[in-house]
Amino acid sequence: MSYTPATDTLIHALQALPGVGSRSAQRMALHLLERDNSAAQALSQALQAALSRVHKCPACRSLTETDLCSVCADSARDQQVVCVVVSDADKAGLEMAQRFRGRYFVLHGVLSPIDGVGPEQLGLFDLLALVQEQGVGEVILALDEQMESEATAHYISEQLRPLAVKRSRIRFAQMRSGSLDKVDSHVIANAITDKKEIGLEFD
Ligand SMILES: [Zn+2]
Repeated sequence: MSYTPATDTLIHALQALPGVGSRSAQRMALHLLERDNSAAQALSQALQAALSRVHKCPACRSLTETDLCSVCADSARDQQVVCVVVSDADKAGLEMAQRFRGRYFVLHGVLSPIDGVGPEQLGLFDLLALVQEQGVGEVILALDEQMESEATAHYISEQLRPLAVKRSRIRFAQMRSGSLDKVDSHVIANAITDKKEIGLEFD
């Protein structure tokens, strides 16, 4: 079945969302166009507003509406300790646990050559520059233990190795990167407390 060109374009655009296939995209588009024009207007306006206001913090890549994100702008935070996370959701989870007082670096993904995600897409050159230029003393890798996350953590650790910076790892058994905001704060606080310095395991 074919729809109008603009409807087809909308269906195609919706398929860019994670977990949305052609069937779901079709259902969403038809729902918005046939039955809920006001929701469609609200969605369109919210998307436009978010796109024009939200950007990546130039220091840590987390999403923000101010020049620097609230963590980077907070002079009370320890600038010498950087926690590397996969997404803003993970940063939110760690912040809710109120145990970490350093700053963050948000990758927005993990290494996945097959999907064209390499070090550049994850901002890893910026991370290395940050460590070198701002005298960072410790980098904590807060990635889960899935295969691609492990490979990413290993890669970052190896890149950091010559820089004489302390490298640590927070282990998230049973937890998934990208959804730490759904995890109980006590569990995250304990994981932070249990962080281990990287040494033999990656050597
Ligand atoms: Zn920031």
